[in-house]
Amino acid sequence: MNVVVLLGAPGSGKGTQAPILAERLGLPHVATGDLFRAAVRDGSPVGLEARRFMERGQLVPDDITIAMLLKRLTQDDAIDGAILDGFPRNQAQAEALDLALAERGGRVRRAVSIDVPADDLLRRMSGRWVCQDSGHVYNEHSNPPKVPGRCDIDGSPLIQREDDKAETVRARLTLTLGSLREVADHYRGRGVLLSVDGNQPIEAVTRDLMTALEAADAPAEAG
Ligand SMILES: [Zn+2]
Repeated sequence: MNVVVLLGAPGSGKGTQAPILAERLGLPHVATGDLFRAAVRDGSPVGLEARRFMERGQLVPDDITIAMLLKRLTQDDAIDGAILDGFPRNQAQAEALDLALAERGGRVRRAVSIDVPADDLLRRMSGRWVCQDSGHVYNEHSNPPKVPGRCDIDGSPLIQREDDKAETVRARLTLTLGSLREVADHYRGRGVLLSVDGNQPIEAVTRDLMTALEAADAPAEAG
């Protein structure tokens, strides 16, 4: 079973690359966020349990997340493997996943990290402004309004949510990068980590991801 873990911070382009890779590799894209929503919808016992935590605004415990992941991996389209997106998020989860897969004779074959320097991530993630009246969204870097501080469409003032303020974004990014590093180190220690430069156009990142995965697969197939 070819389980690939995709790693990247918000703003790294991971969300764009995951479905492209899934198609190229012929593996399902398994995003934990989608799994939670699906499990809640289908009303399965594990989904109901997950919902109890989500409704209280709490993180879904690892054992429940892993149970959902493993269940997803038993579906027909995942018989050859899957691309995991959004899990594991820390070393404990990575170890728990290793254990759970090993019990089923599987393992994480590759972890691919889409690397983007922290300053670039910060720029990509920050600068979001919304208009006060209708919530039209702008970005001061990539999609600025014609008149600073005013909505192009209705002229109402642009405001920045607490979540989008530079300090908040930076603090959140620092935490995320710390966890990502932990997970990357885990897979590096197991000799399955690959890294690609995420600071390139989308097609170039896809090409590098495919090249890395194919190159890594060659000796593994032989051995
Ligand atoms: Zn507006």
